[in-house]
Amino acid sequence: MPLADIQDRIRAACEASGRKKDDVTLIAVSKVQPNDRVEAVLDQGHRVFGENKVQEAAGKWPAFCEVYSDVQLHMIGPLQTNKARQAMELAQAIHTVDRPKLAATIARLAQEIGDCPDLFIQVNTGEEPQKAGVFPAQADTFVAEVRALDLPVKGLMCIPPVDEEPSLHFALLAKIAARNGLTGLSMGMSSDFERAIALGATHIRVGSAIFGDRVSV
Ligand SMILES: *Cc1c(COP(=O)(O)O)cnc(C)c1O
Repeated sequence: MPLADIQDRIRAACEASGRKKDDVTLIAVSKVQPNDRVEAVLDQGHRVFGENKVQEAAGKWPAFCEVYSDVQLHMIGPLQTNKARQAMELAQAIHTVDRPKLAATIARLAQEIGDCPDLFIQVNTGEEPQKAGVFPAQADTFVAEVRALDLPVKGLMCIPPVDEEPSLHFALLAKIAARNGLTGLSMGMSSDFERAIALGATHIRVGSAIFGDRVSV
């Protein structure tokens, strides 16, 4: 689907819920997409992209950034501590802070580097064992812990279980964010971003709806 159509759908969803379009950031998730598809989106002027693997991002974005200015990269996949430095040097935001050890590593590196990307704390709203993120019951404590490290916590992120109504998870994430005084909500993907916007999403992560199905290379 052309980028312009996605932007129209975002605009309509914002209007329907009385929100401003500028309050929703579209992260174009370019993981595993061929370069020509990514370039086509860059050529249309879009600059905010999401990647889930540090290695993949490091392999392709420095070259794009030489050609296109003001690219903003968001890391949205599980992050190993030994990849944290590279992620922080590449990206403007990390959406997957999910455990004390990672937070401590980011805090140490932020001191060293003198800068830190915007951070989102991942909440495992469905309490799925295979999924990253803190459980909802631990979220308040973990948010406080990360803030105590003097890190820039921007908001919360979730990936709802595939077989459940995502709106319930978006509403839960919004509730946890509100009681912690957090304004950022990274939620909503290709199949449900309009519902996420209705429930307050500030960052939607849309891949296949923009680029087409992910092809394996
Ligand atoms: C791949 C991915 C997306 C994008 O998924 P689509 O269904 O293609 O829009 C969003 N969020 C995360 C965390 C992802 O890994």
